[in-house]
Amino acid sequence: MGITVIRAKKIITMNSYRPGATHVAIRDGRVLGVGDLETCAAFGDYQLDEQFADKILMPGFVEGHCHAMEGGAWKHPYVGYQDRYDPDGKLWRGAESLQAVIDVLVREEAAIDDPDTPLFAWGFDPIYFGGDRMSTKHIDQISTTRRVLILHSNGHLLNVNSKVLSLAGIDRTTDVHGVLKGDDGEPTGELMEMAAHYMAYKVAGSPFLKSLDVSSLNGFGKSAVNSGVTTATDLFATFNDSNLAAYKEATGQDNYPLRILPAMNTLDMPPADGIAAVKAACEHSTDKLHFGLCKVMTDGSIQGFTGRMKWPGYHNGAPNGVWNMAPEQLADLVQAYHRAGMHLHIHTNGDEASELMIDALEKSLQEAPRDDHRHTLQHCQMADEAQFRRMAKLGICANLFANHIYYWGDQHYAITMGPDRAARMDACNTAQRHGVHFAIHSDAPVTPLAPLFTAWCAVNRLTESGRVLGENERISVDEALHAITLGAAYTIKMDHLTGSIEPGKYADFAVLEDDPQSVDPVTLKDIGVWGTIVGGVVTRAAPRES
Ligand SMILES: [Zn+2]
Repeated sequence: MGITVIRAKKIITMNSYRPGATHVAIRDGRVLGVGDLETCAAFGDYQLDEQFADKILMPGFVEGHCHAMEGGAWKHPYVGYQDRYDPDGKLWRGAESLQAVIDVLVREEAAIDDPDTPLFAWGFDPIYFGGDRMSTKHIDQISTTRRVLILHSNGHLLNVNSKVLSLAGIDRTTDVHGVLKGDDGEPTGELMEMAAHYMAYKVAGSPFLKSLDVSSLNGFGKSAVNSGVTTATDLFATFNDSNLAAYKEATGQDNYPLRILPAMNTLDMPPADGIAAVKAACEHSTDKLHFGLCKVMTDGSIQGFTGRMKWPGYHNGAPNGVWNMAPEQLADLVQAYHRAGMHLHIHTNGDEASELMIDALEKSLQEAPRDDHRHTLQHCQMADEAQFRRMAKLGICANLFANHIYYWGDQHYAITMGPDRAARMDACNTAQRHGVHFAIHSDAPVTPLAPLFTAWCAVNRLTESGRVLGENERISVDEALHAITLGAAYTIKMDHLTGSIEPGKYADFAVLEDDPQSVDPVTLKDIGVWGTIVGGVVTRAAPRES
């Protein structure tokens, strides 16, 4: 294969021995050298590609916590509060009240011909509405004969109509953790966490969790291109034959623009079976499909009041959240995967959940010492300084949910955590000061896949109303750029392959319209993404509807 030399206005390499450059030479989908034209010409005959002469090149962004559902969810109505763009650049307007959500879904329901087709909606975010909680009384206005399911934006809560409740056999006698009941003892149709969700999915299916298809993964790829992402996790994956076949087929397509790391949901089966499944999947890893990550869910979400909090708990007095499994069982599970040499990515939102997992990992490491395990706490939103100190000591990484500051920061300040603890949420600066390896993430489709926006959140910590939430946890632009490239690559053990532009690594780049290092940091999120280059192959972002 021949050598191509790409000329850019500026190349931000994230590589410490040569941080800036103008040219990069690539061959066989990998970086051969980076520097000026003279450096790159030294490798022999080359073709000069000048189409990016006015663009900025960075390493392709690495999203360490998102979901392939980012691609498939858009086949179903979005009922979130904020406006969003889908993978094709189409604008979906936000729904600003509970009634607006119902109105949208009444229209969507009327457009479905087959009465047996369930109606799924997603992105619902009632914390903005105050007042009434959604219940069957609301959803039954959409239909009492069709199965209707509405997934909250946080993914931890699901509302269903009375049709789903009756098919699932959920009634006042049901004794399953997470099935909410009203004052009259009847189920309200609100289901918290996975055990309760699965009761509904059993009778209605789930387009979000259990089944993947190639077209959804293609949508995921498009979203990645639109946001400059070239490597992304699918951080709660079911490893059945059809899903594994879909990953293989999608990533095996010529020019598929994304490297995917599916992380297996470990809560589905006994540890021995799960460990065997991950090991078997690793045999099928390719350049664009990397297996090995294992996902553990501990608590729920903070804005849904299902995260597990230490004292003094929720600021508004809401009861403490919900475990996905008994704490002792979670600790045993982590220990089994650790002992088997697996790489754990552990969802912890509340500080009680983080503490439980730090304790479990400490015990696991005492019993089975391992260097460079890179177990990562995902979200880790409420970790305090003492927890970060322990994490540093134990080699535990953090992937912090910086986007929360913008999307729910005002609610955390006023309702969930209160003005003091809200300031320490997603504490990038504290993590950094204690030497905890960290990344920042979107959890797409919970919030939009857009690492430059995520970096903007970590740098500015501005909430939707414009409040600076926790000014001392802000980090610099360069630190944030590290967190969306090499920092994220480190947490998923991909830093030897991607995350910086240097010889031997994948030729994966984000092509930007402006220079993140020279724009005003409050405009970081507004930098246009022209597209991406993955393994040397160029893909253009979708134009956005305005
Ligand atoms: Zn997630």
